Amino acid sequence: MIYRTRIIAGNWKMFKSPAEGSALAREIVAAFGDSLATEVVLCPSLVTLPAVAEVLLGTPIGVGAQCMHWEESGAYTGEVSAPMLSGWCTHIIVGHSERRQYCGETDEIVNRKVKAALKHDLAPIICVGENLIENKAGRTGEVVERQVRAAYEDVTAEQAQKTIIAYEPIWAIGSGRASTGAEANSVCGLNVRGVLTNIFGESVSQKIRVQYGGSVKPGNIAEFMSQPDIDGALVGGASLHAADFVSIVKNAA
Ligand code: PEP
Repeated sequence: MIYRTRIIAGNWKMFKSPAEGSALAREIVAAFGDSLATEVVLCPSLVTLPAVAEVLLGTPIGVGAQCMHWEESGAYTGEVSAPMLSGWCTHIIVGHSERRQYCGETDEIVNRKVKAALKHDLAPIICVGENLIENKAGRTGEVVERQVRAAYEDVTAEQAQKTIIAYEPIWAIGSGRASTGAEANSVCGLNVRGVLTNIFGESVSQKIRVQYGGSVKPGNIAEFMSQPDIDGALVGGASLHAADFVSIVKNAA
C-alpha cells in the first residue's frame, strides 16, 4: 500500500478581511511551529491572500486561492489568472459546489482551470459531489464519476499525481450534517479512486489524495481519517476558528 501524506485545507470563503486573515493565520502558525505531520493549506479570499501569504512565508503551511480564470490574461473584468496567482499560492480550489451553483462553473470550465493550474505549478483541489436530490435518487456514483472524468480530460498521468480531489456532498456543506465515514469512504474509493484507476492506472491513482469535505469538525475528523480512501479534509466553517482548525489538523496527524 502507498503512503499518502494527509492534507487539510481551510476554505475561508468570503470571510476574513486582510487584518482578520493575517491574525487567524498567525494563530494557526503559532500552534504548529515548524512541525507538521500533515500538509496544511489556507485558502483565503483574493484580497486577503497576500496578507496571509506574508504570514505563512517560511512556514510549512501552504496558501491556496478559491478561484481563478483559465486564460493567462485578457479582457476578463474581475478575474485573476494562474500566472498571477503562482507567485503567491501553492494550491487552487477548483469546481467548488458554490462556484458551480452561483458562478456557472461547469465540468468543462473545471477541466480548463485544472489544466491552467497545472501548467503554472499550482496544485488543484478539485471539488466534486452530488446534491441532495441526486443523493436521494441513488445517483451519487454517477454524478461523481462524471465530474471526475470531465476534470481530468487531457491531463497526463504525471500531472494527475499533483492534483487533489475533494469529495464534498453538497447537502453536507455548511449544514452541520456530515456524511458518515463509511459512506464517504465508499464514494472516495469506488467513484473517485476507482475512476482515477480506470483513467491512469492503479499506481497513479494510489498517489492521488482524496479529501472529504462537508461539516468537518474537531469531533468528527477522526471518523473520516480512519477510512482507507480518505486522505484529508477540505474544511469550511470550522477553518475560520483557530482552535477548531488546529484541533482538526492535530486529529488528522
Ligand atoms: C466547504 O466549503 O468546502 C465546506 C466543506 O464547508 P463546511 O466545512 O462549512 O461544510
